[in-house]
Amino acid sequence: MYLYNSATHKKEEFKTHTPGHVEMYTCGPTVYHFAHIGNLRSYLMEDVLEKYLRFSGYDVHRVMNITDVGHLTSDADEGEDKMLKGAKRENKSVMDIAKFYTDAFFADCAKLNIKTPDVVDPATNCIDEYIHIVSTLLEKGFAYVAGGNVYFDSSKLDRYYVFNDHDEEDLAVGVREGVEEDTNKRNKNDFVLWFTKSKFEDQALKWDSPWGVGYPGWHIECTGISLKHNGEYLDLHCGGVDNAFPHHTNEIAQSESFLGHAWCPHWFHVAHLNTNTGKMSKSKGEFLTVSLLEEKGYDPLAYRFFCMQSHYRKGLVFSWENLDNAVVAYNKLLARVAGLKPEGEVDSAAYDELRGKFAKAMDNDLNTSMGVTVLYDVLKAKTNDATKLAVIESIDTVLGLKLIEKAAEVRAKQAKAAAAPAAGFTVVSESGEENAEVEALIRARADAKKAKNFAEADRIRDELKAQGIEIIDVAGGAKWKRV
Ligand code: AMP
Ligand code: ZN
Repeated sequence: MYLYNSATHKKEEFKTHTPGHVEMYTCGPTVYHFAHIGNLRSYLMEDVLEKYLRFSGYDVHRVMNITDVGHLTSDADEGEDKMLKGAKRENKSVMDIAKFYTDAFFADCAKLNIKTPDVVDPATNCIDEYIHIVSTLLEKGFAYVAGGNVYFDSSKLDRYYVFNDHDEEDLAVGVREGVEEDTNKRNKNDFVLWFTKSKFEDQALKWDSPWGVGYPGWHIECTGISLKHNGEYLDLHCGGVDNAFPHHTNEIAQSESFLGHAWCPHWFHVAHLNTNTGKMSKSKGEFLTVSLLEEKGYDPLAYRFFCMQSHYRKGLVFSWENLDNAVVAYNKLLARVAGLKPEGEVDSAAYDELRGKFAKAMDNDLNTSMGVTVLYDVLKAKTNDATKLAVIESIDTVLGLKLIEKAAEVRAKQAKAAAAPAAGFTVVSESGEENAEVEALIRARADAKKAKNFAEADRIRDELKAQGIEIIDVAGGAKWKRV
């Protein structure tokens, strides 16, 4: 598999420290608010990556942290702890906020069919690990104490690693507009490993340490949690592109200085979901959640489909119109899968060929939009339905669109509508054509309207429209025609 590596700035053959086994780490959510659908784009693409590695035969061990302490409002050690900010906003304790939003995050993930990583560890559960790493960094001369805090000394590195297109000067913390310089820092890229002073009076969660009562910096938690669960050699580290600097840069600095050897060769960064007005951001306070999509009648899996249609390294613009287009395409796909009959024997040669076509698309830097296109190739392929269904099921272990399950729901709905047509409701086509499936869908739409389920009614109308069929409502029933 060839995967773009932001550490080397090129597509590379993906290799692991232990053949056949992947140690994978993902930066988890900061649980002071709901995840927005932008955050979830990152988790969706990381989920597909994990599932594709498994599809390719790797045994994957995936670890994720939950940031429940230490992430300040600026990524550069400045401002208020985001958790404390969330607790104040809702007049609750930090622990209550963390529990509530951690549960909400995994509930959203479940709706999007995102698998929970093998290990999920909250930052507050690993304080001993951070203290051990920070002590070692001090002993080795990579850290210093100033003004009560412990800082990483970036001047002790041969090279302070900066990803991709990030210019070290541009991103230097001390010169960023609106960010007050921390005068304790000896070098502009130094960062806090352990706080005892900054905004300390208010801090709800604090622990004893050799440097006084305090709390960990944000970056040290990912190093601590990864080393605890993934071991000394990490194969693949993931996060949204905004994590690259300073968070991942600082993770590399402290992990390699602690270990005394190279740590993680492969870095996977997901580009942002943007709106017409810019990046979707939790701290801006206005953002779209999975619950909001549901309130508006969208199936969260249609959002998953929307994300699969574009490449993870390209910014994706969210608009309701773009999502509506994805809904139509997703429903059309489901209707086509629903039309397949599980008849015949699986043809193993055709199965391998079609599955191989999908693998070829995905081996090219996780090209999910090409992967989706392969689904249409499967539907059109010259083989029997049993083979098509088997390939679709296999591909969907990666794309996670629940195609087989949802197609069964479509069939059940059609059968129900055909068995109990709305009383006195007649359906005819303008041309006199008879089509039981179209008729059943039109009746299902009438039933949905009667039950005031307008989202479902619209979905069915769109599904038919996608098949080139227009419905004309008439007194006592409906007419349809091909357009
Ligand atoms: P946070 O909960 O703020 O720590 O962010 C969780 C994850 O979402 C991180 O990997 C971020 O890089 C990622 N992220 C933040 N904003 C966006 C966005 N607009 N689009 C995609 N990913 C994002
Ligand atoms: Zn992290």
